[in-house]
Amino acid sequence: MRRTLPIVLMALMAGTVLPARALEGPIPAKPGETATAPAASAKPRVVIVATGGTIAGAGADAANSATYQAAKVPVDKLIAAVPAIAQVADVRGEQAFQIASESFTNAQLIELAKKVSALVKRDDVDGVVITHGTDTVEETAYFLDLVVRTDKPIVMVASMRPSTAISADGALNLLDAVTVAGANDARAKGVLLTMNDEIQAGRDTTKRVNIKPSAFFSQWGPLGMVVEGKTYWFRAPVKRHGTTSEFNIDGIDSLPEVAIVYGSGNMHPEPYTTAVAGGAKAIIHAGTGNGSVAGYLVDTLKDLRSKGVLIIRSSRVGDGFVLRNAEQPDDKYDWVVAHDLNPQKAKILAAVALTKTQDSKELQRIFWEY
Ligand code: ASP
Repeated sequence: MRRTLPIVLMALMAGTVLPARALEGPIPAKPGETATAPAASAKPRVVIVATGGTIAGAGADAANSATYQAAKVPVDKLIAAVPAIAQVADVRGEQAFQIASESFTNAQLIELAKKVSALVKRDDVDGVVITHGTDTVEETAYFLDLVVRTDKPIVMVASMRPSTAISADGALNLLDAVTVAGANDARAKGVLLTMNDEIQAGRDTTKRVNIKPSAFFSQWGPLGMVVEGKTYWFRAPVKRHGTTSEFNIDGIDSLPEVAIVYGSGNMHPEPYTTAVAGGAKAIIHAGTGNGSVAGYLVDTLKDLRSKGVLIIRSSRVGDGFVLRNAEQPDDKYDWVVAHDLNPQKAKILAAVALTKTQDSKELQRIFWEY
């Protein structure tokens, strides 16, 4: 990130009126870090990495808000469609993929994270925006939060309506994302998601509504809002991420299989045993209520654990958090609880954690800390 103090001093000496951003003051250099020379432009430099999704979607008619093809419009067209972006940042686009986000695999997660990790290491990049489909943006956001070691803003953005629809939400979401990616006050807050005027924590946010622009929600509330090109913050994440994470994508080339089994009444052992036969090293049990396990399934899960499979209790409820040793004696069975992570986020953390450890106690520590 550029240091703004020299610009401020030079401009004050010359009697120049500065943009508000330049007057925010310098970012203190960390011990051992050398301040880079100020750039000629006062605008932050943001790279927009496009992956597809509805924000790049196109429908046959402007009335098609829900019937359309995702991942059609290339990144340069997305940027050109929002001329106001040029006023808030110097941007350039990179097309990573052009896919609907339900088709993301671990291979794409890793490729994207390595690309973003390389970008944020560059002195000429102040922040990164990633356009993405809404279906799995919460997983990608959390993955990047865990494995990209940076304080620079990484901002996910998506839309619920395709770019061709009346009142499409992508343009403002993208403008807001670029604003946040270029904001000094967005640094060190983990990966963010900017949609519907809100700045959500990538770790916490989840798609809760599948048909409205207000699709994303965090049970702990958004971190802030973007209004008329300005960021307003109300809370900060407390879980480890970015530079405080022990994980680093630069050393991760594959992820182990983790399966989710959804809880309901009248269950059977086969979904668990089949997942393990298919290579799952950990099972996220998306249990009812407090991650409950039906009495008739306990032996199946104990047996899998005795064979080395990690059992992680999450909840299908979505909000709240699973309490250890409540409902089930986790200490006795050597199971792990997913804390407040929903099943799909627990799957991401388990896969990342398993690249480092197979130890259930270590895994539980990681679930408390991230
Ligand atoms: N299925 C689309 C996707 O996730 C939905 C969206 O982007 O809203 O790519």
